[in-house]
Amino acid sequence: MANRGKLFVVSGPAGAGKSEIVKTLLKKHPDVQLSVSCTTRAPRPGEVDGVSYHFVTEERFQQLIDENAFYEWAHVHQNRYGTLKSAVEKGLDEGHDLILEIDVQGCLQVLEQNPDATGVFVCPPSRENLEKRLRNRGTETEESIRVRLNNVASEVATAYRYDYVIIHQDWADVPNALEIAADELYAIITARRLEKENRIDFLDGLSASLRK
Ligand code: 5GP
Repeated sequence: MANRGKLFVVSGPAGAGKSEIVKTLLKKHPDVQLSVSCTTRAPRPGEVDGVSYHFVTEERFQQLIDENAFYEWAHVHQNRYGTLKSAVEKGLDEGHDLILEIDVQGCLQVLEQNPDATGVFVCPPSRENLEKRLRNRGTETEESIRVRLNNVASEVATAYRYDYVIIHQDWADVPNALEIAADELYAIITARRLEKENRIDFLDGLSASLRK
């Protein structure tokens, strides 16, 4: 029987580049799967229902909460986002390693309820780097930059509860920063696959054959 898959929760402050890192990893390693979340936000141009997200109404989202269908859910920027229990269980039962790319609140819920899940926190390299990205957008006031940096400080304070921390370097300093971060994430997944618990059947078989 195939081993059950492993669950990886990837989170970190907005702007740290977690979704780009996950996308880069998935392109290179189709053996890893990404769980498709439900959201009440409207689709952006190019997003496909059932692929990017399951786009649902507020009423449907509430119904799913009432049915206890979510593994975790959270309010993020005026919208609600949630991971379906059914999607996680199916993926893991089929033996797939599954990534949840979710916000910090949702990630902490998963890490609390599932000690076998692996938490990966994606961090910006410095305050200066984050500030530069926010200023480059050109849409933020000094006040909103200050508020955002404070929010990031609270999120970074939760990083100690994760298992691994990936520092996503500034591409101006490290041109292949994205590939490095994606390779680091895959290294974490590989290490968990190689744990001896996943090798018991193999070791039993090898030992038995050597004793013949
Ligand atoms: P966006 O609207 O830009 O796609 O995502 C906004 C934020 O919601 C991101 O931080 C993303 O990681 C988070 N998010 C996406 N899906 C989920 C989910 O199922 N649960 C939680 N808690 N956060 C999610």
